Amino acid sequence: MAGTQTLTIIKPDAFGAGKAGKIVAHLEAQGFVVRAARVMHLTAAQAGEFYAVHRERPFYQSLVTFMTSGPCMPMILEKEGAVAALRKAIGATDPAEAEAGTVRKLYAESKERNAIHASDSDDNAVREARFFFGEAEVIGAR
Ligand code: GDP
Repeated sequence: MAGTQTLTIIKPDAFGAGKAGKIVAHLEAQGFVVRAARVMHLTAAQAGEFYAVHRERPFYQSLVTFMTSGPCMPMILEKEGAVAALRKAIGATDPAEAEAGTVRKLYAESKERNAIHASDSDDNAVREARFFFGEAEVIGAR
């Protein structure tokens, strides 16, 4: 899937506020195609493992608490140059710094409660897609 697919999560703040449909529509209008999707309520172990790279950061525990605060919606999205395109579409981590028209500018509450995750490299996109989806759902990976 490298190059054409990426992994996103509509985070619990946005999903709980009923913004998932608007965010999916926003991304589809930019040419992203949903290849896999699920709704799930992460356990602390799952959230901790997903964000393990941030384990030493001061916000790690708070991030895990946030990501387990309600259901979220992981998806595999497809588009040419998917990883870079989605990073651009979601905007900066802190919505206060995000460009106009980005998902985080439109829908995020704060630097932590920032509506959406997007993989930051092709390698992480593959790893993160396999974290949430089985072989049958990872279209194009086989
Ligand atoms: P991203 O790639 O833009 O999502 O940002 P990072 O990988 O750096 O951080 C992962 C997630 O941790 C972010 O999306 C935020 O939800 C959260 N986060 C990042 N930086 C901070 C921070 O300084 N404070 C808090 N409370 N949360 C943060």
